[in-house]
Amino acid sequence: MKATHGTAVDPGQGVSNGALPSSNEKPSGVEPPVLGGPEHSDYYLLDNLLTDEQRALRQKVRDFMNREVTPIINPYWERAEFPHELVPKLAQLGIAGFQIPGYGCPGMSNLTAGLVILELARGDLSISTFTGVHSALAMMSIALLGSEEQKQRFLPPMARMEKVGAFGLTEPAHGTDVVKLETTARRDGDSYILNGYKRWIGNATFADYVIIWARGDDGHVGGYVVEKGTPGFDAQVIKGKTALRCVQNAQISLTDVRVPAENRLAGVNTFRDTEKVLLASRFCVAWESIGAAIAGYETALAYAKQRKQFGMPLAAFQLIQYRLSRMLADITDMLCMQYRLSQLMDEGEYSMPRVALAKMHYTERARAILADARDMLGGNGILLDYHVARHLCDIEAIGTYEGTDTVQALIVGRDITGYNAFVPSVPSR
Ligand SMILES: Cc1cc2nc3c(=O)[nH]c(=O)nc-3n(C[C@H](O)[C@H](O)[C@H](O)COP(=O)(O)OP(=O)(O)OC[C@H]3O[C@@H](n4cnc5c(N)ncnc54)[C@H](O)[C@@H]3O)c2cc1C
Repeated sequence: MKATHGTAVDPGQGVSNGALPSSNEKPSGVEPPVLGGPEHSDYYLLDNLLTDEQRALRQKVRDFMNREVTPIINPYWERAEFPHELVPKLAQLGIAGFQIPGYGCPGMSNLTAGLVILELARGDLSISTFTGVHSALAMMSIALLGSEEQKQRFLPPMARMEKVGAFGLTEPAHGTDVVKLETTARRDGDSYILNGYKRWIGNATFADYVIIWARGDDGHVGGYVVEKGTPGFDAQVIKGKTALRCVQNAQISLTDVRVPAENRLAGVNTFRDTEKVLLASRFCVAWESIGAAIAGYETALAYAKQRKQFGMPLAAFQLIQYRLSRMLADITDMLCMQYRLSQLMDEGEYSMPRVALAKMHYTERARAILADARDMLGGNGILLDYHVARHLCDIEAIGTYEGTDTVQALIVGRDITGYNAFVPSVPSR
């Protein structure tokens, strides 16, 4: 990335990354779509720390998002449909499985995986979420907690994205306190019989492998790979979402679902094992927030250079410059933090509080940046054509899944104070 500070943009040049809008044909002052542009957000030249391979992969993903996703995603988002046509194309990128080594997976470093996720999210948070659920939750569960035989069986087709994964942990009555999950897994001969309900499970309406977390006869939590078409498994899409509308989140009911014993993840003994997956995927979600924030900033900057009011580009006004500078400061802050966290992850110096701090901080900043960016586009800011509105809606869900911002703060708070503030004491009267 090369920073081009202070460069005025030719208003006629545009910064188009996709098709013209289907409606809204009347002149608006700035031709949509505006998503990103030649200006960049790498103000402290973090790119200098990357290898040529990392830069090339990042560019490949960025080009893919600009070419294949941006031009088609808005109608899918409006209709709340998942763009299945993109799955074979995403597979071609060879990114499924992110950091997982072997089994056809790319075995990226944490930083490389992060750069990929950032670019996916910069383009679209539904696509980054779909890929994240598949790779960082479903595949990572198998990679971290499966037996060798399970990895050999499940991971290669998932790496080729011929099989899609989902991760069923949350329940209708247990979100933040999912450690108390009530779905049961009863041993019956060579099988386990699953019963219960799951909620919000991304990709689950069409996934080939859904990892269901359930409590066994011993009271401990286990992970079970439920294969598509298993009788008693029913996944209904949750309708009316205002965020991540392309992601198919499901309410699942499990009625005497028989799962072969060899589909129980061999390395899961307690909920603590589940948390190993959540740590890895939370790190990925943190990158998503940065990607979305960059999309908001770059779009606002490009728009401000083109849109004129009072005879001058918005970019020439002091208050607009202040707001853009604040956005850039936040993005620079997040990138520096996350590059360092990626190093710590590679060195094995990771912990849930360290990852929670990142996820909490970036999601908060991304929400603020996207709200500001939307405002700076004026009325056009609420049009899907300009892309910021979609990101602004979608970031709301990023702040909730994988643990809300509040919960991340409680994880950090417990670490730095020594007090567990999760469960309040019951009043004595
Ligand atoms: C779009 C989307 C996709 C998702 N995808 C998946 C998926 O693929 N797989 C999966 O298993 N789950 C998934 N989830 C579930 C997600 O992880 C949960 O929604 C999340 O953990 C919060 O749980 P909840 O919605 O039940 O909220 P609740 O736990 O009911 O929380 C409600 C509010 O109470 C606050 N709160 C809770 N406990 C405390 C406390 N101790 N102190 C202070 N405040 C507290 C929360 O911060 C929140 O603000 C998804 C959710 C969404 C919205």
